[in-house]
Amino acid sequence: MPASSPKSTQNIIGTGPLEFTPEIERETAAIYERVRHVIPEIEWRAHAPYIYEIQKLKRQRNAIILAHNYQTPEIYHGVADLKGDSLALARDAVGVHSDVIVMCGVHFMAETAKILNPSKTVLIPDPEAGCSLAAAITAEDVRRLREQHPGVPVVTYVNTTAEVKAESDVCCTSANAVEVVESLATDRVIFIPDEFLGSYVASRTNVEVILWKGHCEVHEQFSAPAIQAYRDNYDDLLILAHPECSPEVLGKADFVGSTSGMIREVGLRQPKRVLMVTECSMSDNVAVEYPQIEFVRPCNLCPHMKRITLPGILDSLQSMKHVVDVDPSVAQRARRAVERMLAPAKRPAGSPSEAGRS
Ligand code: SF4
Repeated sequence: MPASSPKSTQNIIGTGPLEFTPEIERETAAIYERVRHVIPEIEWRAHAPYIYEIQKLKRQRNAIILAHNYQTPEIYHGVADLKGDSLALARDAVGVHSDVIVMCGVHFMAETAKILNPSKTVLIPDPEAGCSLAAAITAEDVRRLREQHPGVPVVTYVNTTAEVKAESDVCCTSANAVEVVESLATDRVIFIPDEFLGSYVASRTNVEVILWKGHCEVHEQFSAPAIQAYRDNYDDLLILAHPECSPEVLGKADFVGSTSGMIREVGLRQPKRVLMVTECSMSDNVAVEYPQIEFVRPCNLCPHMKRITLPGILDSLQSMKHVVDVDPSVAQRARRAVERMLAPAKRPAGSPSEAGRS
């Protein structure tokens, strides 16, 4: 079953639910044709009026919508202009030609967009959309780590607050973490805050990695025995895992990589069946592109990503509310760390951060 469901049909514009009119049906028919095998028709009737209104309002506001791969299909395929993982969204946020950026993702992603686009208005439809990794470390923690390990560079996963980024030497994403660490040409780094991604980097480099005990509350739920059970129960199953999973889970995978790396891998291998060991809306989104592939879905949803809904996006755009601001002095220091990350990330796709095992 698809992970998507209409969170609310409350009308933000007037009173009562937005109506699914013949005009809306006609105007959204092409989108529905693409997503019909992951969104049941009864749900589409609730989503389509919001998609229609959001598309209109985007043009009026000169706004662009960025959506992370973990957003639900009605957002990802219905209203997003630019989609991808954290790295893609960070790159795409640079030089966006619009007055307004709506980030359909979590708060640190909206902060990153603001850091890279200080003159633009950045909105997040729900300011409570957080992240267990971003909550796992503070700027004060980073300063203490530096005192404990003088001279050791701090590599910071983008899943952190602007204040933490400002204390860092360079940022990274799961798509380029190995590449960023190797680019420092050092024998030790402090890697924050994701312990599992840091362990993965250590396993792929000759660099000693000082770890922090932050975890993604979604990916840490996957267990090696459960992944092995999928392997035993499904023939010809390709298993792709995100490096926020534990080392034991990664050991069961055919490929380890970022969400974009996983999507690329599905396209390259065109497997009969695939298991994406990550947030489960992504399987729905990729299934839209590959209806012939069977997606086996262990459904772990990110409660923070799921705070973003079509009614919330419409409300945010309509009232221009939930503006994301970053203190200019913090933003200036954080920008250095993010831009330093984007320099090595300009290399071609197929990052050496991402490892195939079969
Ligand atoms: S899936 Fe994990 S890392 Fe991503 S936003 Fe949710 S809690 Fe954070």
